[in-house]
Amino acid sequence: MAVPFRQFVVKVNSRCNLACDYCYMYEAADQGWRRQPVTAAPRTLRRTAQRIGEHAATHRLSAVSVVLHGGEPLLTDPDDLGAFVHEVRARVPAGCAVRATVQTNGVLLTERRLRALAGHRIRVGLSLDGGLAHHNRHRIDHAGRPAWAGIRRAARLLAEPGHRAGYAGVLCVIDLESDPVEVYESLLRLDPPALALLLPHGNWTTPPPGLPGGLPDPAAARPTPYGDWLCAVFDRWWRDDRRRVRIRLFQECVALLLGLPAAGEALGLQPFDAVVVETDGSIEQVDALKTAYPGATETGLDVFRHPFDAALRHPGVVARQDGRAALAEDCQRCPLVEVCGAGHYAHRYREGHGFRNPSVYCADLQRLIRHVAAALRRAADPEAAPVAGAAP
Ligand code: SF4
Repeated sequence: MAVPFRQFVVKVNSRCNLACDYCYMYEAADQGWRRQPVTAAPRTLRRTAQRIGEHAATHRLSAVSVVLHGGEPLLTDPDDLGAFVHEVRARVPAGCAVRATVQTNGVLLTERRLRALAGHRIRVGLSLDGGLAHHNRHRIDHAGRPAWAGIRRAARLLAEPGHRAGYAGVLCVIDLESDPVEVYESLLRLDPPALALLLPHGNWTTPPPGLPGGLPDPAAARPTPYGDWLCAVFDRWWRDDRRRVRIRLFQECVALLLGLPAAGEALGLQPFDAVVVETDGSIEQVDALKTAYPGATETGLDVFRHPFDAALRHPGVVARQDGRAALAEDCQRCPLVEVCGAGHYAHRYREGHGFRNPSVYCADLQRLIRHVAAALRRAADPEAAPVAGAAP
């Protein structure tokens, strides 16, 4: 049975003030952003709010999450963002909480904007690649100038006691050229309440940096640079900081290993419940799919003509809500499938074979999951001998 959407990613602006060279929005196979209006018109946002309210009422949702996204969402005035969020809150049924976040590169974040966002109960998530200038060398503006000074100012502002309540956390894409522990420690110094460590988007046809493409074969020996990177961070976090900062990927891995539910996109078999509204009102699947092929996110639906329920019937959404049955046979047979869930959907793609493949990060995910499992075993029984196959 279809699981309702609970996370609505709303593109308020389709352009960005930065030109990061790895950006999956502007540098990937899909260049659909070029056809999008620069900003979402007020009538598009009003209709989106109405559709979110309708969906929340139809499915009697007790909470929804609204992520204000772009491009760079702070190219839109915070009071306009606030007006949209206010409209969503007015449209959902009584008792349905609306959690609103703006996901920004931070460069345009000022004290005034931050206060305005807080006034509208919109929290701020910051996207960066580490807590030092050289980690952010790929984050440049359209003239090629480094964005780091603006990012650092935003991070400092958010960490101030007066703004901390509105600090949702930091989102960081892994760069193998950066030392994992150095990146982690530098991010901790920014004092985020939560940290999302993301694998760069890639697939079997367009592999991520540092990984070969080729044929999906979970039995083949493959390098695990991302697994190694994450294990190094996990060890520090597990030993010193797991009560200080939330790291979603690690917390989900621990929860899933313990047989608990975990609602994330990177691991597990739980149905995916996020949907995107583009600046023209198109209803789309999440942006990460843009890295697969042009048009991969399109559903042919829009908020003017269709309720979000129509998107729940789209084959791409159904495939992401179908659990183990929708996975490749190798994944269905895999002993780690309950935890791994074949990883992020976008990372399974292979040209000519669609998404029914193991993750291009299969070996890395195995490395991380076994490593976390070993840490859990040691925590439960410090005398326990290492288990065969559980690489430390
Ligand atoms: S479930 Fe994960 S670890 Fe297992 S084969 Fe699939 S991608 Fe690989």
